Amino acid sequence: MLVHILAPAILGIHAYPVHIELRISRGFRFTLVGLPDHSVRESHERIQSALQTNGMDVPRKQIVINMAPADLKKEGTQFDLPLAVAIIAANQYVPVESLEKTLFMGELSLDGTLRSQRGVLSAALMAKETGQKRILVPRVNANEAAAVEGLDVYGFDHIREVVDFLRQPDSCKPVQACSQAPAKGEIPDFSEVKGHEWVKRAITIACAGGHNVLMCGAPGTGKTMIAKRIPGILPKMNTEEAIETTRIHSAAGIFKAGQSLIEERPFRSPHHSVSGLALLGGGSRIQPGEISLAHNGVLYLDELPEFQRHVLEMLRQPLEEGKVHISRALHKVEYPASFMLVASMNPCPCGYYRVPNHTCHCKPGQIQTYHNRISGPLLDRIDLQLGVAALTFEQLQQQKTGKSSFEMREQILQIRDRQRWRVNAQAHGKPLMQWIKPTEKALLLLKSRMETQFFSARTYEKVLRVARTIADLENSEHVNETHVAEAMQYRLNDINKGFC
Ligand SMILES: [Zn+2]
Repeated sequence: MLVHILAPAILGIHAYPVHIELRISRGFRFTLVGLPDHSVRESHERIQSALQTNGMDVPRKQIVINMAPADLKKEGTQFDLPLAVAIIAANQYVPVESLEKTLFMGELSLDGTLRSQRGVLSAALMAKETGQKRILVPRVNANEAAAVEGLDVYGFDHIREVVDFLRQPDSCKPVQACSQAPAKGEIPDFSEVKGHEWVKRAITIACAGGHNVLMCGAPGTGKTMIAKRIPGILPKMNTEEAIETTRIHSAAGIFKAGQSLIEERPFRSPHHSVSGLALLGGGSRIQPGEISLAHNGVLYLDELPEFQRHVLEMLRQPLEEGKVHISRALHKVEYPASFMLVASMNPCPCGYYRVPNHTCHCKPGQIQTYHNRISGPLLDRIDLQLGVAALTFEQLQQQKTGKSSFEMREQILQIRDRQRWRVNAQAHGKPLMQWIKPTEKALLLLKSRMETQFFSARTYEKVLRVARTIADLENSEHVNETHVAEAMQYRLNDINKGFC
């Protein structure tokens, strides 16, 4: 008796079809071929227990299972359910035809309960692309799979339910795609940030123009409070972005059970002790790292100089490319990693250098060493460097609420709208000046500052780009000297020259 069944192999955020053939013949052996790893080989024990607990015997015969293609490594526990169903079908507990055009995935516990899986959305997308009609998954993952249109999704808690369904497919209805309202209030609002209007304006510019930000200020000035609110003012994710973000979180196994698509932009803030592997991704099963979990959202690095320097250096390539490549002996995985980098730091190791009413106890050499921990090439990728000052007593007392996240997002959307044609101009390689359109005076100001401040050519270009975003905020066709002057304020105190 030969049974065919389809299961997914998950690699990175992609799922690949695995064709499983199962043959039962005379003899007494259980053989798995086709590059299964230890988690798949161990499935035999789980399947045997799950089937026996539910009154279905694993035949005491020779069972040969081939998983194709042979060169694709099969890892993970999602093969439990398809392998168990193949055995059940070979034993004629369910009709073999019921396995056609169907993708199965799910881990079995010893009593036959189905456990949550990683990578279900990717598997569902693959099922649709390869022309399957339906996918059978653990019930907790059903909403995730149902985000894919044009595919019948069935969710089950137990292998008994799967058997009942395969015997009588009309006995239950597919799960409907459900659009869950995002949990309200998860991202705090900017209206709670009093004062700091200058910083909020700079953050608006950064979000509109897709610029990275570094905030420098004494402890307790509200840097983290500001950073946490940034995902709430970025434009909402479109469906494509939501699917990509969900696939990454699902692959990492940090997706909430029962959840459908992730609709809010992620905010990730790894501790400064984070390893390169946790930040960029990797490990034996090649898990996505923090930079990929922040994809389409914000990666917040608090106390930037405290991160290990070699870990920070690893960020340079993903910051340029918006993705990260991870290689292991057998395969390579590419994870998306397009995020807005928001970082913060104290002005010195003790935190109070040049802060009014405080005494800094650091020696000049210590301050220099602290600043030098952030390399020039990394700083070059951070367009806006802001000093965040402590609020005065009067500012703290003011009752007026600040600009809300809603108002800031509206402004950002307007600017992005004005910028759209410019993004196209960039894509088509038009010379910088043709789409930035600076006035004579603006260029003169920049030139004089370049000479006194020793701006690099890269800084020169970055100031112009930020100035272009400011001009868009003012709805101005040309970039004038006021726009350039404001853009230079965000770079004036270049960090290695005594920032803050
Ligand atoms: Zn100090």
